[in-house]
Amino acid sequence: MTANDTSPNPTWDVASDPDAESIYECLSCGARVTDTSHPGSCPRCDDPLRNRATSLE
Ligand SMILES: [Zn+2]
Repeated sequence: MTANDTSPNPTWDVASDPDAESIYECLSCGARVTDTSHPGSCPRCDDPLRNRATSLE
C-alpha cells in the first residue's frame, strides 16, 4: 500500500515571514490591531489580544 507518499515534506512558507502583519482582536471589546508583532494588550480596554490568524482552521 503506497497511496500517500507524494509529499513527505509539506512546506508552510506563508507563516514563516517575520515581517508579515497579523490581525489581533480584543476578546472583550472587539477592537482590532494590525501589527507585525504582538501588541500585547488592547489599546482601548487593556485586555489581552488574540491573534486572529491562528484561530482560523
Ligand atoms: Zn479591548
